[in-house]
Amino acid sequence: MKISIVGAGIGGLTLALALHRAGLSKDLRLFEAAPEFKPLGVGINLMPHAVNALTGLGLLDNLRAVAVEPRQIGYYTHHGQLIHNEPVGRSAGYHVPHFSIHRADLHKLLLDAVHARIGPDAVVMDRTCTGFDENEQGVDLTFDDSQGNSLVERNDVVIACDGIHSAIRRQLYPGEGPPRFQGINMWRGVTRMEPYLGGDTVVRVGALFRTGKLAIYPIRNDIDADGRQLVNWVAETADDHAAPIDWSAPGKLEDFYDLFENWTFEWLDCAKMLRDADTVLSYPMVDRDPIDRWVFGRVALLGDAAHPMHPRGGNGGAQSILDAIELARCLADSPDIPSALQAYQEARLATVNALVLRNRSEPPDVIIEKVEERTSGQRFSRIEDVMSVSEIDELINGYKRAARYDMKTVSG
Ligand SMILES: Cc1cc2nc3c(=O)[nH]c(=O)nc-3n(C[C@H](O)[C@H](O)[C@H](O)COP(=O)(O)OP(=O)(O)OC[C@H]3O[C@@H](n4cnc5c(N)ncnc54)[C@H](O)[C@@H]3O)c2cc1C
Repeated sequence: MKISIVGAGIGGLTLALALHRAGLSKDLRLFEAAPEFKPLGVGINLMPHAVNALTGLGLLDNLRAVAVEPRQIGYYTHHGQLIHNEPVGRSAGYHVPHFSIHRADLHKLLLDAVHARIGPDAVVMDRTCTGFDENEQGVDLTFDDSQGNSLVERNDVVIACDGIHSAIRRQLYPGEGPPRFQGINMWRGVTRMEPYLGGDTVVRVGALFRTGKLAIYPIRNDIDADGRQLVNWVAETADDHAAPIDWSAPGKLEDFYDLFENWTFEWLDCAKMLRDADTVLSYPMVDRDPIDRWVFGRVALLGDAAHPMHPRGGNGGAQSILDAIELARCLADSPDIPSALQAYQEARLATVNALVLRNRSEPPDVIIEKVEERTSGQRFSRIEDVMSVSEIDELINGYKRAARYDMKTVSG
């Protein structure tokens, strides 16, 4: 079976490793538009569902070597008042960790594994897919390279892992407009700093539309002799104009700092963390409306090409990893390619489409929105008077079940 994967991001590389594990990598290649890999973006959280899948691909030690393993997550108001704190990963009883990791470290470990297991030529760089033609002989993919050459590649099966700007999705859905912007921009950066809250805490502070919001977590330990950490942060602010949809688009501190300049809490001086950042990048909060088909004969969409979602639940990358595992399993189980791809779509589409919508309306940090709304942005005396334990539990655990990282699903 000749398999081509378009796009060597998180989804494409994981798919290649899953196909290799299933014994389907003999005639497999990935085609990547970028002429070379550069470290892009900043941090990413991998919850137990994603880590469980990567552990199955033999990558647990590789992850542990570069990532931070958080023990807990805390939700705070913009006054720095704790609303809810809970253990994560192994501290919460999962058999696998939760990891917070630099996106470049994750990408490198996946790429290194593809090179080591499938071969140094498995990823063909500088191939921008421009479209495909599905015919009786198979699927012909067309590519441009940076020298102005056009190339055609014939395949038995093509998996589009080419992200939110997917060229293959564009051909399948020609009337679809640009990604959907909901009036929120994200300013993202990393700061070298002393560990806060024990050095193992993921934090969400503030309500997006009322006060601005910060998501903060460490992504590298012991970066110098003083034991400092590299800490990732994302500042989310309401905005009429979307930032460019580009992982490496630069941002400026002055574009968002005034919302956060008084966020100096006893457990973390957020304002100083923002001022001390190494780099600031920008990215808009965008997704696309769910579609009811990812599979067209011998062509399938996977990851952000199929279901780009708001990152408020930290799940887009994880879902592309779960897609990859499922797709490889289906291809290994059925000799008939179109049926195998249909089985993949049946296993994944409804769940992930529902998650795309839930990320718009009820991501886990909706608890902060609700508390800020009920207190009109004032300090509270007792959180129980504002939100009950069972309401918090239902909102957070409901999200985990929807995203498939509740304990029962991950251990089952
Ligand atoms: C601010 C932010 C924070 C996030 N945090 C998290 C998080 O904590 N946890 C989580 O799980 N997810 C998170 N996500 C989501 C996650 O980053 C994405 O869902 C994930 O990167 C999708 O992987 P992918 O492989 O589908 O696409 P991508 O990672 O975008 O990879 C697509 C690849 O295809 C290549 N490509 C594009 N077009 C072509 C073409 N025409 N031909 C050939 N190659 C092409 C690209 O160069 C790229 O290498 C976050 C996203 C954002 C914006």
